[in-house]
Amino acid sequence: MKVWTGLGLAAAACLTLAAYGPGSVVTTQRLTNAGSEPGSWLTTGRTYGDQRFSPLKQIDRASVSKLGLAWHHEFDTDRGQEATPLMIDGVLYTSTSWSKVYAFDARTGRSLWSYDPKVDKRRGFSACCDVANRGVAVWEGKVYAAALDGRLTALDAKTGKVIWSKVTVDQSKPYTITGAPRVVKGKILIGNGGAEYGVRGYLSAYDGQTGKLVWRFYTTPNPKGKPDGAASDPILAGKAAKTWGGKIPASGGGGTVWESITFDPESNLVFFGAGNGSPWSAVHRSDGKSDNLFLSSIIAVNADTGKYVWHYQPTPDDNWDFDATQHLMLATLPIDGKPRKVVMQANKNGFFYVIDRATGHLLSAKNYVTTTWASSIDLKTGRPNETADGRYRDKPAVVSPAPYGGHNWQPMAFDPGRGLVFIPAMDVPQLYGVDANYKYREGAWNLGLDTAIWALPDDKAQRQAMKAMLKGELIAWDPIKQEARWTVQYPNFWNAGVMATAGGLVFQGDADGHFNAYDADNGKLVWSYETGNGVIAGASTYELGGQQYVAIMVGYGGAAPLAAQSLLPDRPRLPGRLLVFKIGGTDKAPAFPKPPERTLDLASLSSNGDAAAGKVTFHANCAVCHSLNASGHYLPNLRNTPMLQSPEALQAVVLGGALGDRGMVSFAKWLKPVDVENIRAYILGEARHEQTESK
Ligand code: CA
Repeated sequence: MKVWTGLGLAAAACLTLAAYGPGSVVTTQRLTNAGSEPGSWLTTGRTYGDQRFSPLKQIDRASVSKLGLAWHHEFDTDRGQEATPLMIDGVLYTSTSWSKVYAFDARTGRSLWSYDPKVDKRRGFSACCDVANRGVAVWEGKVYAAALDGRLTALDAKTGKVIWSKVTVDQSKPYTITGAPRVVKGKILIGNGGAEYGVRGYLSAYDGQTGKLVWRFYTTPNPKGKPDGAASDPILAGKAAKTWGGKIPASGGGGTVWESITFDPESNLVFFGAGNGSPWSAVHRSDGKSDNLFLSSIIAVNADTGKYVWHYQPTPDDNWDFDATQHLMLATLPIDGKPRKVVMQANKNGFFYVIDRATGHLLSAKNYVTTTWASSIDLKTGRPNETADGRYRDKPAVVSPAPYGGHNWQPMAFDPGRGLVFIPAMDVPQLYGVDANYKYREGAWNLGLDTAIWALPDDKAQRQAMKAMLKGELIAWDPIKQEARWTVQYPNFWNAGVMATAGGLVFQGDADGHFNAYDADNGKLVWSYETGNGVIAGASTYELGGQQYVAIMVGYGGAAPLAAQSLLPDRPRLPGRLLVFKIGGTDKAPAFPKPPERTLDLASLSSNGDAAAGKVTFHANCAVCHSLNASGHYLPNLRNTPMLQSPEALQAVVLGGALGDRGMVSFAKWLKPVDVENIRAYILGEARHEQTESK
């Protein structure tokens, strides 16, 4: 697309400015030239390169101390808030958990409209990592939003009324959508999640005006050998299918495209990441010795046709939940004296990759956190040098990184002046072990791993020692030298996405409830605001009437707090909030109400169940949402629930589906009354243990 270089770019910028003002629309031109609108935040990564860097500098290292709340809004959802707000022509657009969409006056916070797709809460069961939503896209007077149940909807940007809505998945299967749609040349690109359960991943492109499907790229070959696009097309079918050892799971093999989708107007390529294998265990998925394309791969396709151009697979034959779906960021870096156009990723597997974006050729790779599954990457072949025990073939092994990743969906940021990528990183090990008795269970979690070994030690000191090993970091990474320039250490590992500005600042929220600003040169904390809740989303910034604002969605949740509450801050579930800051802001957000005290009288309760058996059943079925050792506070705190009061009360929920409208589906397909009573015995034991410890 040479038309947008050189003089063409300048002409386009003038046109853009002429069209600027309330009621104007976001054209393809404006999106392509988003970098020429410093005051706007037009698309989730601000510009197509997804650098999440703003040229605004009114808020800088000197003035940031005067940053105060300009306005706030409290939402009616209390799960993880992961969206990055957009700001276009004075309107702020954002989305919340349960896929709700909001438009505000970006100056005052006055609510303009909201849209609730009314997702059936039962769908929440199929969301591995919370019922989150990471944002919306805007184009030609429409706001595009994806719902957890697989719908892609075009809303009127002025009113929030539905213009068209399409179901993008087979809703009889455990697909979900949590990612933000991307607009590329009038097409709306959207993927989906579900690889923890057993689905087949793909990326779709819909016509933005009509909602008609234009192309689809499947990331795994059709299990029946049918040529149905991309990994199954007549040419690639042979290539991709050969990497499955003759065995592609009927459930689809995973590879879901649930987060990063990046467009490069210059090469007309779309880059996206495919997720983990399904099941996680490679020996249960195919033959345990084949690459399984395109699982855990970075893929480049033609934006117009969806045709395959190149791929790079950071984790061949994924065995650890190493999705390659993290932030794919474009930049031009001086490498060996030449400007190289690259795509960069801090992969879940702990390595930072710099790839030539025209060819997919790996330029460099280095670990940015501890990696014990592989020692290094062979730059000739692009393949990891795996360690002897990394694949935990014969016995369980502690491996780094954990399935949370060295870096997960939380967006990075790039400061082009300083040449630094800011990575919201995690240094977390995990005990991995194969479940020798694994059988596929339709619709349920399908990992192929022994989950009972994840239960935490009963001893409090041992648990605390374990917690102390888990590190959260903000790393300023030099992608050319492939080394850290500076690192901020956090007390907890699941922190927020990052934004950088020309004010020399790096903004990041944390698990402990702060929204922080750091000096981009050295990582020194220069400002911090207590939000009262955990923060996981990435911020955005914009300018209106000569005033710079910073917007952040606040609400703790996502994979780690659901699955491992006891290793993270002891925090109740709180309503999500949007906080918007400016220099001299004087708004005050009220304190959150205190969490309820323990109400369950444990002394009066008993169970004939087998707590040891319950522990195994709990970790195989419940722990991913209710946390290891039933320590979760989110869905809800099982150690203090009236459901424990009788065997019947718990069975009504677990087998009868009494709380289906809150997302707790019936487990009658998988569990019997005796299993539920064993679980009850186990949770009662954990609750008593906690009570004794806190005395
Ligand atoms: Ca995954």
